[in-house]
Amino acid sequence: MPDVPGSPRALGLRYGRWRPGQREAIEQVNQSDKRVILLEAATGFGKSLLAAALIRMWRGDQEAKISGRSVVLTRTTHLMDQYIRDFPWMGAALGKDLFHCVLEGNEHLAVSSAPCQTGWSCSKKSNGKCPYFAQRAEAYTARTLVTTYASALTTKLGHRGLMICDEGHMLERQLLTSFSIRLPYEEFEAFGIKIPAFGTMDEAAGWAVRQQIKLDRESESLQEVLSLLLKKKAYKSGDYSRDPARERFLALRQVLNPIRQLAQADTSALWSMEPYRTALYMRPIWAADHAHKLFGYPHKLIVQSATIMDGERMASILGFRKDEFEYITIPSTFAASRRPIYFWPVAHLSYKSPTSEIRKLVTAIDMLLDHYPKRRGIIHSVNWTLTEHIQNLSRHAGRLIIQPKGQNRNRGIDTFLRTPHSVLVSPSVTTGLDGKFELARFQIIAKLPFENQGEQAVADRLDDDARWYSYQCAFHIQQAAGRVMRDEMDYGETWILDANFDWFFNQNKNLFSDWFIEALSTRKGPRERR
Ligand code: SF4
Repeated sequence: MPDVPGSPRALGLRYGRWRPGQREAIEQVNQSDKRVILLEAATGFGKSLLAAALIRMWRGDQEAKISGRSVVLTRTTHLMDQYIRDFPWMGAALGKDLFHCVLEGNEHLAVSSAPCQTGWSCSKKSNGKCPYFAQRAEAYTARTLVTTYASALTTKLGHRGLMICDEGHMLERQLLTSFSIRLPYEEFEAFGIKIPAFGTMDEAAGWAVRQQIKLDRESESLQEVLSLLLKKKAYKSGDYSRDPARERFLALRQVLNPIRQLAQADTSALWSMEPYRTALYMRPIWAADHAHKLFGYPHKLIVQSATIMDGERMASILGFRKDEFEYITIPSTFAASRRPIYFWPVAHLSYKSPTSEIRKLVTAIDMLLDHYPKRRGIIHSVNWTLTEHIQNLSRHAGRLIIQPKGQNRNRGIDTFLRTPHSVLVSPSVTTGLDGKFELARFQIIAKLPFENQGEQAVADRLDDDARWYSYQCAFHIQQAAGRVMRDEMDYGETWILDANFDWFFNQNKNLFSDWFIEALSTRKGPRERR
């Protein structure tokens, strides 16, 4: 690997200088002979520039040998867009719902509902005249592709020698979600299928194989009907999109997809099965059993995040062998004094906290909101019950933006970011919210963010490995701590009010990164002299 140049510009990147620590981090990564690098660098370090520089250097070195092609994976389309904006030479395939069909008579349909999705062999797909497929082909032939984890798990990326997984802290959750199977009772009944109570995954997979044969047969005959209809040019009059055979085909796809997933499931892995009111859920217990489907092929794999916390633990969660990875951690370049974390033990919170403890908590929250009358802030409420208690008991209810249950969290975030002096109360923004500068100057972790043991998959994981539970909680606390401090010139305060943090931190100190520990202190309230 060549030496790291004096500036990013020398690599064809538009930045004139490296940020503190970036050059050294690239050198460390380049010097490692391990296939997998787990790279921890705090928020604001400039991990996307690091990724772009590693890709540029990788291409230079590997061009003539194994694949010089690379891929960057992100969890969110938001971060993917940021990569495309900052590094326009990266190719990106956008989703079907962002494009309309251009086949005459079908322009009102999104590509996800277009005739080609029901088996129609459209010439515009092959001759490059369909904008959706054209941009996709261009992205997938680009030397560097940026795409989401969800898309990478369902699409063939082609051989790419270097894979960089950004937002690496979300990899486990993403893998678990992608391999989870949902069998909706009502949708199956529409096809005359009753879902039995399965004793084992083997039994379930065998059942799915038999159902798949029947459903594939119906799918083929529906495709023939649709094909005839399209040949008659029914789509030109708009009849196609209203045809009952098309409706049936789309409904069939909703049951065929999970059936195929179940028929191919790795039944030697551990799974949890949980019947809900509307569907039967089958969830993998450990991501490690399935991760090879994403990580199997790249020559070099870099997983980067602000919260890896424990390299061995992350490696075992993602299924890497002890001898194939190196854990590199870069110290935070943000002054600890600009991102204080105050532990103010006001109440012992649990899943079923008594009213007296909740009242103590809300009284403390109100004192903090009095202390920051003109600032925007965030309250991490961990669950919906506590969210409601805060809403009902706080003196500052008019200032609170409550994220509505069951709705896309981005709606709550958008309202919060548009409303001056508001405070967002949400159980689901410990990750992914960018509260830089005036967007959020303070935040409150109201309760320790333990996973919900009422969920069967969580209980099964806990049974199998009790340390996983603590790891998840420490992970969410540290992810939350990064929400209000996003730049070296930023300033943001974090308050932890759950008294349980005392024992939790002392028992799990090894799970907390140095950047977190150096900013942590105990306080007796907002008025204590500093
Ligand atoms: S390939 Fe044809 S049918 Fe499919 S979205 Fe494009 S134009 Fe429409």
